[in-house]
Amino acid sequence: MLRTTAGFDRIGEENAFAVLARATALAAEGRDIINLGIGQPDFKTPAHIVEAAIKALKDGHHGYTPANGLLATREAVARRTLTTTGVEVSPENIMIVPGGKVTMFAAILIFGEPGAEILYPDPGFPIYRSMIEFTGAMPVPVPIREENGFAFSAEETLALITPRTRLLILNSPANPTGGVTPRSEIEKLVNGLVAYPHVAIMSDEIYDVMTYDGEEHCSLLSFPQIRDRLIVLNGWSKTWAMTGWRMGWSIWPNSKESGQLYDKVRKLAVNCWSCVNAPSQFAGIAAIDGPQDDVEKMCKAFDNRRKIVVDGLGSLPGISCTTPKGAFYAFPNVRETGWPAKQLAAALLDEAGVALIGGPDFGILGEGYIRLSYANSEENILRAIERIEKFLTK
Ligand code: PLP
Repeated sequence: MLRTTAGFDRIGEENAFAVLARATALAAEGRDIINLGIGQPDFKTPAHIVEAAIKALKDGHHGYTPANGLLATREAVARRTLTTTGVEVSPENIMIVPGGKVTMFAAILIFGEPGAEILYPDPGFPIYRSMIEFTGAMPVPVPIREENGFAFSAEETLALITPRTRLLILNSPANPTGGVTPRSEIEKLVNGLVAYPHVAIMSDEIYDVMTYDGEEHCSLLSFPQIRDRLIVLNGWSKTWAMTGWRMGWSIWPNSKESGQLYDKVRKLAVNCWSCVNAPSQFAGIAAIDGPQDDVEKMCKAFDNRRKIVVDGLGSLPGISCTTPKGAFYAFPNVRETGWPAKQLAAALLDEAGVALIGGPDFGILGEGYIRLSYANSEENILRAIERIEKFLTK
């Protein structure tokens, strides 16, 4: 089979990058642009993590590491997994990868082929769909609805499974909606999945630490009945503000029944990226084992800004905003403004100097919404809301 790059022709994330590139170009022309488009924490990586990478370099860690990552880094991930989920995972099942996206890529590549169907959230992280299309598999959107607080619906998800379904992609807390799927709904979904043993699950839990209003993140790892077909995506990018370090981890099953998935992805690593750079892996250990005050401070800041965003947007004409329960995004409904979402986003950038992303860049069901990242200062968020108000009332 000849793979094509068809999936890459209309990637939402690429559109998002285009918005950000335009925002940067406008700023370079001297325009005062407030960037609420970007999906990365506006915090620096905590100093002790940076120090650990510098020390690793000074100590001479300049070579390849094992393709699946240093044992010490995988052991650190196992410790963290036990703390956050209460589930014991062997370092033998953990892969250290160059960013969360690589787990996505590996899982979709392993299961995706012409004739296969892969379920993914819509609206959702745009790379899911583009990667599925790249493999020749059929992307099947799972509707994520505002009336459910942007949580997955177990019933709707299960109804989309066919004998051709190979993989189900879940994401909670979610990009772009900030939705968190409650444990009760995940439980229902898992119970339903027991009837479909041919469906593997990839649970994208990269925002696990960012939940608000007492909402708790529920890891799919808590359900042993699907463990032998579960891939968990997580990483350092968001939790420790390390997007540029390119560091992720994933947890894989490796039984004969599971198709020895871990061995497959290790082979992919050997053939493709060799390993994650050594100093970053030492930094990753420091991130997990070191003090978490900076993470807590960042999450507290996101929580405060979230309230400002929801209150501010809620007072604007034509806009209503479901309170996001996780991550650092809000996904306000802009239907009543009368603007198609992408045009509104473009006009807000050009005329009001506020960069954000039109909902359709995250899927067909994103029409009528815009995504706003609150990875920016309270002051800038307030200024942006003022500008949006001025624009809408002019
Ligand atoms: N998963 C989701 C839901 C994301 O929003 C992102 C990044 O925005 C990723 C995965 C990718 O993370 P990384 O930067 O570690 O590749």
